[in-house]
Amino acid sequence: MHKTTAGPEAQNRPQSNKKTFAIAVFDGDGIGPEIMRPTLDILGEISASSSSFCLQFQPLPAGAGHYRDHAVALPHSSLDAARDADAILLSAMGLPDIRYPDGTEIAPQIELRFALELFAGVRPVFLMPGQGSPLRIADTGGVDFVIIRESTEGLFASHGKGEVIRDEEARETLVITRRVSEKLFDFAFRLARQRKENGKGPGRVHCVDKANVFQAFAFFRKIFQERAALNPDIEAQCAYVDAAALWMVQRPQMFDVIVTENMFGDILSDLGAGIMGSLGLAPSADIGADHAVFQPCHGSAPDIAGRNIANPLAMILSASMMLDWLGREHEMEDMLTAGRRLHEAVNSVLSSGSCLTPDIGGTASTNGVAEAVLEAYRNGAQA
Ligand code: NAD
Repeated sequence: MHKTTAGPEAQNRPQSNKKTFAIAVFDGDGIGPEIMRPTLDILGEISASSSSFCLQFQPLPAGAGHYRDHAVALPHSSLDAARDADAILLSAMGLPDIRYPDGTEIAPQIELRFALELFAGVRPVFLMPGQGSPLRIADTGGVDFVIIRESTEGLFASHGKGEVIRDEEARETLVITRRVSEKLFDFAFRLARQRKENGKGPGRVHCVDKANVFQAFAFFRKIFQERAALNPDIEAQCAYVDAAALWMVQRPQMFDVIVTENMFGDILSDLGAGIMGSLGLAPSADIGADHAVFQPCHGSAPDIAGRNIANPLAMILSASMMLDWLGREHEMEDMLTAGRRLHEAVNSVLSSGSCLTPDIGGTASTNGVAEAVLEAYRNGAQA
């Protein structure tokens, strides 16, 4: 596989005594390249300073801009290279003015989820002391939960297959399968157990659905309860999506792991980002059996693109989730430590409050915030 490199040559060059990981990189559209560039700089330094691993970046074309210029949104060669990579970093894709003839938007990030069977969309929601939030909660430090959005079926199974009949009626079909739901719920129970062992949660999973109205969701809930019976050490709860949205605002501390259908997860994770104070703070991972994509929850933010004011922290936190995932998959303690330190570096920049982008009340630039994170990482690594 031909590799191109990003970042300083020396940082990217594999070293014989290190394990090399190929990272597919999608810069995307709008603010995508602006937040990806400094994130790769940080990862490049982490890689260069590690004695056990080396990250090798491979930039790949895809997105709305690529569709506009080449009439293809996700080239086969990009998909193949992403499939071959050890992990995939993606910023954001799509531009509202660039659409397919049926009126829908270019969304290679959704195509990747389907093609690589990335069924578990992991979206952490957390508030650290000092982090602004529109919620008036005395102790917002207690907000720390994870939404798992099923990412390959649900209402999104209809992506590209919906129909408009005689300009009078439109139909989209929601799909829930036992095969994917069982994997999804097992993933949720595993994550709750892992969080409990790490002192991050009580070991509780909420299945969020609309089982009171739709048969598909009654089926979803039934499978959840079957899998819950196999995981008796974890508390299993069910909630309707409307009530769950209310409780996320009124008493978010009650949640540990939420597992839900694709469309509901899409909406609830933006609500989660709102609780965190900005979409620019919300990271995510789309995880399957063999592949994983790490990307912020937000879109390409065309309203602020090109101004060096986009918040890079969601992208940097997504990179920290990538290090954590790779570290677990390959049992590399050094990588797990690097992922945790990167997360801590973001925490320290946020809680100091002195270098923040405008979306969370500051005046700093994208690059300025990324440099502050790198500085905090260096200081943490020395501590
Ligand atoms: P968006 O997430 O791009 O923006 C929503 C709001 O949040 C905007 O006000 C934006 O300025 C702000 N915002 C988002 N990210 C930010 C950041 N890092 N720093 C500061 N502010 C930030 O959502 P949208 O406007 O609905 O969509 C814009 C485009 O992105 C559309 O083409 C859409 O299809 C696409 N999109 C892509 C993804 C993805 O790639 N995963 C997700 C959602 C939307």
